[in-house]
Amino acid sequence: MTLHAPPGLPLPSRVPTIAAMTPLPDSPKLSPTDETPAQTEVKRIGACLVCGEETTKLCSKCLGAGHELFFCSPEHQKLIWRDHHRVCGRPLVPDSRPWLSKLEALEAVANMDVPRRLPHGKIASLIEFLNEAGCATRFIVTHIYRLTEGHEHPYDSYTSHAALVDIRMLELRRRCPAGDLNEVLGTIDTFQLTNELLYQLWPCMPTNKVWYPGANHRLVIFLSLLRQFRAGNPSVSLEFCRNAYKQIEVFLASPAAKMLSAERDVFLDGLHAYIDPETLVIRLPLCDYTPEGCMAAEFKERIGRWRRAVAAK
Ligand SMILES: [Zn+2]
Ligand SMILES: [Zn+2]
Ligand SMILES: [Zn+2]
Repeated sequence: MTLHAPPGLPLPSRVPTIAAMTPLPDSPKLSPTDETPAQTEVKRIGACLVCGEETTKLCSKCLGAGHELFFCSPEHQKLIWRDHHRVCGRPLVPDSRPWLSKLEALEAVANMDVPRRLPHGKIASLIEFLNEAGCATRFIVTHIYRLTEGHEHPYDSYTSHAALVDIRMLELRRRCPAGDLNEVLGTIDTFQLTNELLYQLWPCMPTNKVWYPGANHRLVIFLSLLRQFRAGNPSVSLEFCRNAYKQIEVFLASPAAKMLSAERDVFLDGLHAYIDPETLVIRLPLCDYTPEGCMAAEFKERIGRWRRAVAAK
């Protein structure tokens, strides 16, 4: 049994003993990370999502999909491109959840027999978790590869979303056994972190809302900058990170977001609770790591507030 790494990627250092290992498909359809993203000039003025400077230039592909993401220069657009290119030009619905990167897929496969602490006091490996979800062990590798970028797989919104959420949730818990995201921030995949934040900020995933993918895009840009800042990239300052955070709030308050003020309050409450606006320290506890225990009660409270906010419309 051999695991084939796609070109340019190392083989994982360990490979679990599991039958029916198939090679990772290699037919990339996404823009490569070294591509220069295109910019379009418009008559409107917006703040650069990186530095905050006023500009009339925005991401061309995202504009075509209905997202106005302003960048003052190709340099600032490139600064977040390694993460943004995975969701660049995604239409408003479904939301901006990208396929697994090849590295994410390889790591998930290489570590699928590793037990991890899951919500509600459970301990399970990826194999055990997927078995319980109805996926037989011999199909797990194929299942993961089908959710990987470059694979010929039609977008199946519910199944794919649920599976992506689950795999990223499990991988984050393997990478962060102590539960402090600040410690691993420079090394985890941005979308594993985005996944966790969105799950806890907005558990019911309102993909039909105009503001949701717009907020998603800005959250990805903010987390991409924060990760790079924590990883020591000298081109990314704390001011850039603070600006990107502020731009999420600015967008949610704009008419373009078409967001109810009560919904906005609930969302911003969560955002401020999970990421300190001043220090940018992440205070998002992984489920069952909070001093008070499981976060299920807080989830319920948040969903209740969202339902009441919508009902009060
Ligand atoms: Zn800028
Ligand atoms: Zn874009
Ligand atoms: Zn829980």
